[in-house]
Formats: sequence, structure tokens, C-alpha cells
Amino acid sequence: MKKLLDGKVALVTGAGSGIGQAAALLMASEGARVVCVDLAGATDTARAVTEAGGVAIAVRADVTQEAEVEAAVDAAIRTWGRLDCAFNNAGISPAVAGAAGLRVADIPNAAWHQLIAVNLTGVWNCMKAELRVMEKSGGGAIVNTASIAGLTGLPGAGAYVAAKHGVVGLTKAAALDYAKQGIRVNAVCPGFIDTPMIAEVRSRRGDAIVARVPAGRFGLPGEIAELAVWLCSDRAAYMNGAAIGADGGYTAG
Ligand code: NAD
Repeated sequence: MKKLLDGKVALVTGAGSGIGQAAALLMASEGARVVCVDLAGATDTARAVTEAGGVAIAVRADVTQEAEVEAAVDAAIRTWGRLDCAFNNAGISPAVAGAAGLRVADIPNAAWHQLIAVNLTGVWNCMKAELRVMEKSGGGAIVNTASIAGLTGLPGAGAYVAAKHGVVGLTKAAALDYAKQGIRVNAVCPGFIDTPMIAEVRSRRGDAIVARVPAGRFGLPGEIAELAVWLCSDRAAYMNGAAIGADGGYTAG
């Protein structure tokens, strides 16, 4: 039986951990050759893909650095001659930037700029490089990781919310700009997913979070990967410009 991504070349950022790692593994098991991109951990993920019988390479790149992202996309072209799918997923939490729980006026400037640089400009940097090669080759599919924070406000997370709303807006704008070139651009909007990013929050107030999630549990990285892989596949041919919540019902309430 044909696999979802048979014959395709895919690039995943944030592939060293959490959702990106799960997506790289799932993409490979669905037949894609995968470029695993991260600041750290990409090599381990590429090795895990290979050990599972898949095909992957690793590239160390910081998504805030345009030249490094271009080099990652070039690696796909040099190695396999094409890029069909991209999952722009690398991101950081407000806690990493030093802005956890702070109200908007209290966010330190440096934290604001760091959250926007990684979570929004990082996605734009990736899209620029990917769109150029996909336009040349006649099409492709891009999936960006936004968040429930791209669909609704969350208290104490102003810069993160702004960046993720930006990702949703950029996704819609690019979908319109490139539809005629055969490139689809969609966003996934995860709820609370059990990854290292939220391990600290989970240990502090996991029960309170779960109480607000209709599904009554945290999501799994693989459950977001499933959506990203499907959006990348030809089975999602009529999906373009969508921002889809995968949040156990959180944003339905
Ligand atoms: P994670 O911390 O497990 O993985 C994020 C990965 O991104 C890490 O491997 C990290 O090294 C990488 N990264 C960070 N900055 C980078 C940079 N400048 N360049 C390249 N790589 C970089 O977290 P995760 O939960 O898997 O998060 C993945 C995405 O999902 C993020 O965009 C995050 O905002 C989003 N998200 C997560 C949740 C959640 O609850 N875990 C919810 C909604 C959205």
C-alpha cells in the first residue's frame, strides 16, 4: 500500500525534540526522506530514523539565522534534488526567554525580541528559503507550528501569543501568495502537549491544566505529528491557509 509521503523529501525544524522529533520519525515511516534541523539533537533524531529503517540527514541550524536556514534547505537539494514538504516547528516557550507569567507591560525587551525572533521570524526565514525552491520545482506543502496561543489569548504569555498569532497570519498570507504556484501552506495549533517544552509547567500545575482540557489529558507529540504529516501529504490537497487546533477540545469552549 502506498504510504502518505512516498517519494517525498521533507524538512523538519525543531526535529531534535518533542513534536518535531515525532514528526521526523512519522514522516520517515510514511516514506519521506527527511532533513532533521535543530540547534541540538538533530543528529540523534536522524539516527533514530535510520535505525527504524528510514532515510534522514541532520543539519544543525538556528532558525533565527537566515543563512543557516538556507544551508539546511540547500542540503535537501544537494542530497536529494528536491524539497516537497516542510514542517516549520522550532520554537521556544516564554519560560526559556525569561517572560513566563509576566503581564504585557512587564515583558523584558530582550524576552520579547527573542520570542518573536525564534517563533515568528524563524518561521518566516524558513518559509523564504522553502518557498523559493518549491516555486522553482512546481509546488510543495508547508506546515507551520502555531499554537492554541495563535488562536486565542493566554494570560501571562503576551510575546508568545503575539508570535503565534503572527504565524497564523503569515500562514494565511503565504497560502494566498503561492496558491497558484501549487504550494499549500497550513498551520497546526497544538494545545498542551507532553514535551520537554512544558515539563516544568506540567510539574507545577499539570492538574489545573488538564482540568481545563475537555479530553482530560495532555496531548502526545505523535498526535500533532499525525496532523502535520497528513497536511503535508497529497491527501490534504484541498487544505490551504488553514490553522487547525489539535488541542483535545480546548479552543472549542
Ligand atoms: P521542544 O522544546 O521539545 O522542541 C523544540 C525544539 O526546537 C528543540 O529541539 C529546540 O532545540 C528547537 N529550537 C529552539 N530554538 C531553535 C532555533 N533558534 N533554531 C533551531 N531550533 C530551535 O518543544 P515542542 O513542544 O516540541 O515544541 C515544538 C513547537 O510546538 C514549538 O513551536 C512550540 O511553540 C509549539 N507548541 C508546543 C506546545 C506544547 O504544549 N508542547 C503547544 C503549542 C505549541
